[in-house]
Amino acid sequence: MAIASINPATGETLKTFNALTPEQIEGKLQLAADTFRTYSHTTFAHRKPLMIRAAEILETKKHDLGKIMTLEMGKPLKAAIAEAEKCASVCRYYAENAERHLADEIIETNAKKSYVHFQPLGPVLAVMPWNFPFWQVFRFAAPALMAGNVGLLKHASNVPQCALAIEEIFTSAGFPAGAFQTLLIGSEAVERLLNDPRVVAATLTGSEPAGRSVAATAGKQIKKTVLELGGSDPFIVMPSANLDDAVTTAVKARTINNGQSCIAAKRFIVADQIYDEFEKRFVDEMHALRIGDPMEESTEIGPLATPQIVDDLDEQVKKAVASGGRVLTGGAKIDRPGNFFEPTVLVDIDINTPVSCEEIFGPVAMLFRVSGIEEAIKIANATPFGLGSAAWTNDAAEQARFIDELEAGAVFINGMVASDPRLPFGGVKNSGYGRELAEFGIREFVNIKTVWIGAAD
Ligand code: NAP
Repeated sequence: MAIASINPATGETLKTFNALTPEQIEGKLQLAADTFRTYSHTTFAHRKPLMIRAAEILETKKHDLGKIMTLEMGKPLKAAIAEAEKCASVCRYYAENAERHLADEIIETNAKKSYVHFQPLGPVLAVMPWNFPFWQVFRFAAPALMAGNVGLLKHASNVPQCALAIEEIFTSAGFPAGAFQTLLIGSEAVERLLNDPRVVAATLTGSEPAGRSVAATAGKQIKKTVLELGGSDPFIVMPSANLDDAVTTAVKARTINNGQSCIAAKRFIVADQIYDEFEKRFVDEMHALRIGDPMEESTEIGPLATPQIVDDLDEQVKKAVASGGRVLTGGAKIDRPGNFFEPTVLVDIDINTPVSCEEIFGPVAMLFRVSGIEEAIKIANATPFGLGSAAWTNDAAEQARFIDELEAGAVFINGMVASDPRLPFGGVKNSGYGRELAEFGIREFVNIKTVWIGAAD
């Protein structure tokens, strides 16, 4: 099987790679298991400079690495360079904080001494998506390697060059061979890996069907999983909000990464009193976005990652229109080489139709007019997903209700949902389970061992 790197801005095939043979996979699995035996006993003081070196490589090579990302999946180059910088920040965060997050915790009991002790688990398989092709991997790998685990990466099939570049960073940083390995394989090879006793746990960031499949196989093997899946995040705007900031942030929150972000705001729920003004300004700003070559500094919206995503988006817009929705701007594929779709605003969508609450992975926004906070919360929660949520209001009582009542892994008040190494990240409902980042992320793939020492007579 061949794995191809295709420029989504042009359709040109950049490179093709042969998928690993079963023998090659076997060799890498054994290397991971062998490396774990020694690497897991290294100290934090040993691992820390290696992770800092990885951060330095990311910082030094950010332009080249950014270029690889943009060429393979189409995000604007500026954003790709910023992604490399963010990966450096998560490496530095865990280099500095892993020891503290995993220090023994003394618990007073009737024992002479009792405490919680954290130990690495073994080789962890990471099944990753293409949309943040570096960030998604580093936010798994930095805590996993600092905890003493070793990583096996099965990256999305459309970003093989990114996958290999990431392996190269860890190798150049001085991590031992086998601490982090990229497996160029298709998704059909994942089940076998999960069934192999040398793989002890898995993390998947991706779509709901992929999550269900990986979790089902891992579940049969009683292996821990973390799932970071899709979202249909609400972005609520109440009358007391600063409308200028709310509109500008709303457009950014919908179109970041060409609209292909799990935590992109997808449903804009706006109070009746300000709805007309919000709609007008939002449509104007969406319409004005500069679409083009993602390598150009001025480009705000580049191509979608694959032709399939364009087709899926087109289908969803058609479904919305068929169920009574209206297109205020955009609404169609763009007739030029590459996978381009117009920034689109949809209104009047029936909230009882599936399209009103499913994930739309591209620059297509849905606007909903609501009578007040009650209806806003009801519509916000009317989705099978529960990843992020944003609410704009300067009313303290409203803020408290949103924080309490929105069914999501995160609530951002007067801002847009974003990840930060210092804050946990993850979802509820069909957006997955488990957490990445902060101390929660590094504690997902460790044995939380209870130690109880009785008094000597
Ligand atoms: P995807 O199609 O689910 O692919 C993600 C990864 O899973 C890829 O490596 C893919 O491999 C693999 N995969 C697909 N089906 C599989 C299966 N049945 N068994 C094992 N592995 C399988 O998702 P995507 O299109 O790359 O990414 C977009 C999705 O990711 C969106 O739903 C988005 O919301 C979600 N996402 C979530 C987060 C979060 O943190 N919650 C962050 C980013 C993205 P192949 O490429 O070889 O098919």
